[in-house]
Amino acid sequence: MTATLLDGKALANQLREEVAEKVADFIENNGTVPCLAAVLVGDDPASEIYVRNKQKACERVGIESRLHRLSAQTSQDELLALIAKLNKDTSVHGILVQLPLPKGIHEKRVLDAVHPLKDVDAFHPENVGRIAQGRPRFLPCTPHGVQQLLVRNGIPIGGSHVVVIGRSEIVGKPMAMMLVQRGDGADATVSICHSRTRDLPAITRLADILIVAIGRAKFVTGDMVKPGAVVVDVGMNRTDEGLFGDVDFEAVREVASRITPVPGGVGPLTIAMLLENTLEAARLQAAGG
Ligand code: NAP
Repeated sequence: MTATLLDGKALANQLREEVAEKVADFIENNGTVPCLAAVLVGDDPASEIYVRNKQKACERVGIESRLHRLSAQTSQDELLALIAKLNKDTSVHGILVQLPLPKGIHEKRVLDAVHPLKDVDAFHPENVGRIAQGRPRFLPCTPHGVQQLLVRNGIPIGGSHVVVIGRSEIVGKPMAMMLVQRGDGADATVSICHSRTRDLPAITRLADILIVAIGRAKFVTGDMVKPGAVVVDVGMNRTDEGLFGDVDFEAVREVASRITPVPGGVGPLTIAMLLENTLEAARLQAAGG
């Protein structure tokens, strides 16, 4: 069997077109342009590229983007003061703090300081709690992109056994939490694996849908996958030989029924979902919270 590709790039284009239409409607009805403020601290080249791509994507769908660039020497208090200012600024609807932050800045303290209604990355404990309780305000961008990729490709999630490898706050944990909820696009039986999991291949071979977010190039091999499974590779590992996912694509595509490529799989969807969240933040604030 050779797996069919799950095309994240095409879906991201479609989602962006949908957001652009909704943004135009929002502006017409409210007279307000949704605005995302990005905060970039330091000069990490990868972060610069990520922020630039997010800004470009905003502009393409009619969302205003503002960049607040701070030097690597910025203190935590200075950063918290900027967040407080953006929280109060009614012309800013979403706040994005690009990670990682320089050493010496307590990441959680900064992320916790973002107002929950402007927390378009869905990192604030209030928003994480709402996801856990099945009444989300925002969905975290990468897991939401994965969920949309599954739903819009007609992959049955309800009743399926989903195995998530990785338990990060950004991908693994919220991914599992979202798919175990009641309702459409969820209702899965979910297993979460991590570096302390005993006999990982025995568990991954049970997966109808295997979602991998660990950050190790080509870690998942063909013998770890059940024939016919759907494999979603969140990994983005830059090596001397190029960019690779966490899945050994060539081997696993011979076993799986559907598989995401890297690049062109999950990556483009993350930004599309950020646009969706920024629009939702603007809607919530226009409606008074
Ligand atoms: P992370 O915070 O480093 O977490 C990695 C997780 O993988 C941890 O839970 C870790 O377990 C687990 N793990 C590591 N080695 C393992 C092993 N040998 N067996 C089983 N589990 C193992 O990473 P992340 O932020 O979730 O990112 C994961 C990957 O996704 C990275 O390549 C990242 O670049 C990529 N990513 C892509 C996007 C996108 O838009 N496409 C977005 C975010 C992240 P422990 O908890 O036990 O340490």
